[in-house]
Amino acid sequence: MKIVVLKFGGTSVGTIKKIKKVAEIVSSFKKKGFQIIVISSAMSGVTNDLVKKSKEISENFSEAEYDTLVSSGEQVACSLIAGSLIHKGFKSRSWLAWQVPIFTTGSHKNSRINNINKNKIMKYIKDGGVPIITGFQGINKEERITTIGRGGSDASAIMFAKFFKAERCIIFTDVEGIYTTDPNKIKKAKKIKVISYEEMLEMASLGAKVMQPVSIQDARLNRINIEVKSSFVNRSGTLITKRSNIINNKIITGISSTHNDAKITLIGVKDKPGVAASIFKPLSKNSINVDMVVQNISANGKETDLTFTIKKEDLNKTKKIMKDNQNINYRKLLFEKGVSKISIIGVGMITTPGVTFRMFQALANKRINIQVISTSEIKISVLIDKKDTTKALETLHKEFKLDN
Ligand code: ADP
Ligand code: ASP
Ligand code: MG
Repeated sequence: MKIVVLKFGGTSVGTIKKIKKVAEIVSSFKKKGFQIIVISSAMSGVTNDLVKKSKEISENFSEAEYDTLVSSGEQVACSLIAGSLIHKGFKSRSWLAWQVPIFTTGSHKNSRINNINKNKIMKYIKDGGVPIITGFQGINKEERITTIGRGGSDASAIMFAKFFKAERCIIFTDVEGIYTTDPNKIKKAKKIKVISYEEMLEMASLGAKVMQPVSIQDARLNRINIEVKSSFVNRSGTLITKRSNIINNKIITGISSTHNDAKITLIGVKDKPGVAASIFKPLSKNSINVDMVVQNISANGKETDLTFTIKKEDLNKTKKIMKDNQNINYRKLLFEKGVSKISIIGVGMITTPGVTFRMFQALANKRINIQVISTSEIKISVLIDKKDTTKALETLHKEFKLDN
């Protein structure tokens, strides 16, 4: 029989009414003759609240206990869904990660699923049951509970689809699919019918919250097609698949924005070999990820200014490293939190010249100043003043003909 993995996000299980809706969706798939595996996230807001509580205890809350704490929201959602299905007359039960078990590797807070024991779940679905499995969590070799990064139930769903060789993997969320840009921010955003793993990975990594980046990497690696659709209305959504399945005549597929970047500028850095390395070495040692970098041309041949971006949450740590490190010489340190990174993404830009120019010109026409730039084969990112975010998204959406 055909197996389908159905994943429900936090907003789809956010209230009792929505949980009942989830049970209806599950029962409709059951009636179609599918064997079903449900993966659920926690009710919306619950995980954030648990993270907040851990911070109130300590800014350095034990990472092992963090995982035990923040994974608890999924248990509630799964038992409510299972209870709702039992009430409807179905055979169903909740499964926590350790009961399956779902095995992970890597460090706490950011583990990766590397194996799932199929035996118990397979037997249960063969017996006609609907297992409701906690997303976001696993166990490690020491049998401690782990979590797989915020938004991680997407990756849980993909890994279940992989290990159970599911026919379909459907991600149910609060929007109708993947849009050209966040539909909750830009009204003219349009639903995309099909998108490649590569473009989705860039969009997700560059701020489109709708899918967790790791889940797209896992899907791409295992060639798993993902359907993203709404749990509120029954309309066709978006298919995430390999590039060769797609015919697209647009240069740009989507636009993403982030708001969790901070910009650091070191004024008056010595302009000689090895200086940049000595600045970035202690950051990498402290697991601080440097994203965009720009070094100004030295006016006098002796000194230069160096600007780079990091995640906002790493700002205090970075400032301390810069100030404490005797090997780093500069005259002044500036930092800025009011920035936003806007990225245009599309495989179409590989074969189309002039995309960078069009992007910069369109922003210049709206008097939006570009502070830092970074590019890859299928994306161009610019750092701008945060207050210009919506204007920039609307401008670029129009410029690259995504409005129609
Ligand atoms: P879930 O609770 O289902 O996991 P998320 O909140 O993680 O849902 O992701 C859904 C949200 O992602 C949407 O409400 C939307 O605001 C946001 N989003 C950002 N960019 C996009 C995009 N390009 N397409 C669709 N949604 C997007
Ligand atoms: N509940 C977890 C989170 O909020 C996992 C998820 O939503 O996918 O990050
Ligand atoms: Mg999510």
